[in-house]
Amino acid sequence: MEIFDLTIHELHEKLKAKEVSSVEATRAMLDRIEAVDSQVNAYITVTPEQALVQAEDADRRIAAGEIAPLTGIPVGLKDIFVTKGIRTTCGSRILENFVPPYDGTAVARLKEQGAVIVGKLNQDEFAMGSSNESSYFGPCKNPWDLSCTPGGSSGGSAAAIAARTATATLGTDTGGSIRQPASHCGCVGLKPTYGRVSRYGVIAYASSLDQVGPLTRDVTDSALLLGAVAGYDPRDSTSVNTPVPDYLASLAKGVKGMKIGLPKQYFIEGLDPDVKRAMDEAIALYQSLGADIREVSLPNTEYAVATYYIIATAEASANLARYDGVRFGHRAEDARGLAQMYSKSRAEGFGPEVKRRIMLGTYALSSGYYDAYYVKAQKVRTLIQQDFLNAFKEVDVLLTPIAPTPAFKIAEKLEDPLQMYLSDIFTIPVNLAGTCGISVPAGFSAAGLPIGLQLVGKPFGEQEILTAAYSFERETKWHLKKAPL
Ligand code: GLN
Repeated sequence: MEIFDLTIHELHEKLKAKEVSSVEATRAMLDRIEAVDSQVNAYITVTPEQALVQAEDADRRIAAGEIAPLTGIPVGLKDIFVTKGIRTTCGSRILENFVPPYDGTAVARLKEQGAVIVGKLNQDEFAMGSSNESSYFGPCKNPWDLSCTPGGSSGGSAAAIAARTATATLGTDTGGSIRQPASHCGCVGLKPTYGRVSRYGVIAYASSLDQVGPLTRDVTDSALLLGAVAGYDPRDSTSVNTPVPDYLASLAKGVKGMKIGLPKQYFIEGLDPDVKRAMDEAIALYQSLGADIREVSLPNTEYAVATYYIIATAEASANLARYDGVRFGHRAEDARGLAQMYSKSRAEGFGPEVKRRIMLGTYALSSGYYDAYYVKAQKVRTLIQQDFLNAFKEVDVLLTPIAPTPAFKIAEKLEDPLQMYLSDIFTIPVNLAGTCGISVPAGFSAAGLPIGLQLVGKPFGEQEILTAAYSFERETKWHLKKAPL
């Protein structure tokens, strides 16, 4: 077992026992990045100097007996997290040279514990995408098959786990961007309830949907990392002031008697046979562990993708208005006059997918169409939310696939944005409902690509989905398989 293969909790034990130092662990990780990242392209920016300074600091804390669960652990951050003194691009040319003057709250919380930040991870531009192909910094590759995408938008965050170039990472999920790449790369990815983690210092895509969450090698690490970043933040008025439970404490509770719902709209024709088989096996396993499995209905599922693409693009078009080349970000050089400076800077700085979404969102918000599209989408969103609340009157958690297929080939869906949008059909409703979901490794396709299982919880039901995920992980060994890299 190499140092870079370890989970957070395994490395923590070794740091605590002083079998290894944080400087050694950090060096091992930086060497690993050096050795394999040119094939994977998970990192946009690697920060060796800062990482080693942080590692030395962590070693001092450990020597003084002040070790927290993340002290000295090498972590990577999606490049959507604003980091003080470290370039933050959000996968876009418009922020290619942006060095923020502050840390966002999630990052600050990691640093308070003494975590070591090894770099900033590749992603779709402004988190718009499901394949990491819209990144200005080139596509990230799936470590299980370099001709496939890792999923997206947090593609780099998932690929770094699979490539073992970070012990754990943070991503964001607006419509599936943590869970889907986790599924495609064989790691654990958790999207918390809206409001559970502060969005302060997270570059905004669609503010009513965006949420920060962990990508990790196992469920224990997911619980640990969520616990570290969750909680009320006066700087984000949408963060909710409810206590953060000890997510580790309830992991081993088991699923005996737990009511698990299978939404019938998610087990459709057209589901890839390998995905279907993995779901059937998972359901059988839960049954054998004493869970009470029932069918439930989420009747408005078919409207979720359309609803999402109106709300998300509308919010994005407003959020992205701030990139005007004035205070920060790319500024066109040869513009004549202010208006041309705005439009040229934006035309040069944004890629095609971002432009498409700004146009879609601006259209949906424009007078004459606002009621027909935006207001209607908000009403349907309420219905979708209600579907989940109704289902949770009958069951504790829902079990679904994450994606209709395993990872697809690079360029396969690039020419057909609608195909790309449809691949998020099982993850988007969870964001619209504002509740939580986790992706857990649940098998492999015939071609050797990972397949993830989704467990969806009640609002603030992270404990229950972590417990259900842990029970599954304990009985299966999918999470222990390593990508051939
Ligand atoms: N694929 C979805 C989109 O492009 C979700 C992305 C995300 O969750 N950030 O909007």
